[in-house]
Amino acid sequence: MKGISEKTSKKLNELRQGYFSKLPRRFNEIKTLSSQAVAAQSDYEVMAGLKMALHKIAGSAATFGINRLTETAGKFEILIETIIGSSANIDQAATKLIHQYLLEMREICADPEKYSENTGLDEDGDNTGSGTEKKIVFVLGEKDSVAKDLSEQLGYFGYHVEILKSFSALKEHMEAADNELLILNSSIIENNPKTADVVKNIKYDYKRQLGIIFFSYKDNFDIRLDCVKAGGDDFFTVPLDVSRLIDRVDSLTKDENTNPFHILIIDDDPEQVSYYALLLQQAGMITSVASDPRKVLDIMAESKPDLILMDMYMPGCDGPELASIIRQQEAFLSIPIVYLSYESNKEIQLEAMRTGGDDFLTKPIKAHHLITSVMAKAERTRSLRYFMERDSLTGLLNHTNTKESLANEVLRAERSEGNMCFAMIDIDHFKKVNDEHGHMTGDRVLKSLSRLLQDRLRRTDIIGRYGGEEFAVILINTDITNASRIMDKIRQNFSQIRQISAEGDFYVTFSCGIASFPSYRGASELNSAADQALYKAKDKGRNQIVTAG
Ligand code: GH3
Ligand code: MG
Ligand code: MG
Repeated sequence: MKGISEKTSKKLNELRQGYFSKLPRRFNEIKTLSSQAVAAQSDYEVMAGLKMALHKIAGSAATFGINRLTETAGKFEILIETIIGSSANIDQAATKLIHQYLLEMREICADPEKYSENTGLDEDGDNTGSGTEKKIVFVLGEKDSVAKDLSEQLGYFGYHVEILKSFSALKEHMEAADNELLILNSSIIENNPKTADVVKNIKYDYKRQLGIIFFSYKDNFDIRLDCVKAGGDDFFTVPLDVSRLIDRVDSLTKDENTNPFHILIIDDDPEQVSYYALLLQQAGMITSVASDPRKVLDIMAESKPDLILMDMYMPGCDGPELASIIRQQEAFLSIPIVYLSYESNKEIQLEAMRTGGDDFLTKPIKAHHLITSVMAKAERTRSLRYFMERDSLTGLLNHTNTKESLANEVLRAERSEGNMCFAMIDIDHFKKVNDEHGHMTGDRVLKSLSRLLQDRLRRTDIIGRYGGEEFAVILINTDITNASRIMDKIRQNFSQIRQISAEGDFYVTFSCGIASFPSYRGASELNSAADQALYKAKDKGRNQIVTAG
């Protein structure tokens, strides 16, 4: 857990100073409006303008930690609201109150620094740094044959494995690396509390929680307990179930920030937008901003946000009105809308939630609280969306979404006059795998192929589970020669992955057919051409790639 970086803290401070320096001018505007209101005796336009100006200054002051100003402007706003509501004139008592509020506001606006309070910037937040370093797995014991085997099998899934001789070599290596994981033979700690302690200390000496997996040639409660006590996260028996091991290695080295959340901030006040954008960016999120409600739909189509953080009051179109328009678009139905406003009236908050809002955060809000709330909501949306679009066994896109993606990518390639390929994969003699090794083992084979595809293809390529043991891949900006080379490499690697079952180890292959755009110009043409090529690959003896045309 790192705090907010020095650089960001400096930028946030600059924003604050910028805001402070403009406060005297904003105060003058409010003063002018107040004089007009008193002179014109409750002219509706003037009163509404004054109320809005007070609301804005109360909200922005909360953002930048001047709570006294928020309080005073807030009371002032309620007074004006009451007068508007009762259609009364501004009587003597009200005039006196207005003067008093103006005096207080003037004093604060003249020296905002004096009144500013902690906005939570100095507290530790949930901000993890980003890291895209290659994942490294350390295995101790150079003489261990399992270590060598692991190195090869994990290598197929994009892990770099280092086999080390001793604990001191391990410590030295870990200083430099990130995303690391340790795989150890349990014999190292068996009946040896001293080395068990060393292992445990290595784990807790490092701020980042180091994942540790033990493997063992035997399996009993005591040995499992020893491994847990030494800080082990998981325990595997030899022969290793590679597919389950990969799952664990994946989850233990998972970098939460590989796919950052994208947050759209909508607010007509540029200073507050910059402030909140910077805070969220610091926590590893990507932000887009919109200050004009009219541009929001376009920005959403472009940036595909995971969550919208929205102000309640904007000129011409307020938050709930904008939320209603957003909710009219089917594609945006599931994107959560969170209001961030100084509005503390529960009735208004509830009404805002009724028209499409998902949460209401009130200013002032501590940096940490804002980040945590936004993260939690964005995370939940992501996982919901994930389960709706994906196949539960492999986590790949399901049939419907793969087809949809193909249609989209064809359109995109047409627009950019680029190229792309569609590949269909079918596992060879898969029925035999099920028959000989059982359905569960069959499932694991499917997972190992899905994992290999995810590792070998680019992030931008699209991978789907098309049917039972059929997969589909959309290779963006790739011509048929390259697609064929890439898929053939994957085919070779897949055939080398050792699959485990109680009946003994075995190997599996697949066949693949590829069709390319623009040789085939539509989604259904690509689909059937790839399908026919796949059929040919099966016909020619399986375990091979055939290109269409
Ligand atoms: P070919 O080389 O011609 O493709 O032969 P094949 O045996 O792979 O093809 P076939 O279509 O005859 O059999 C596919 C098998 O895949 C039958 C089905 O039980 C199995 N299967 C489909 N979905 C799943 C699944 O989710 N899990 C498991 N374990 N098996 C599945
Ligand atoms: Mg099939
Ligand atoms: Mg098959």
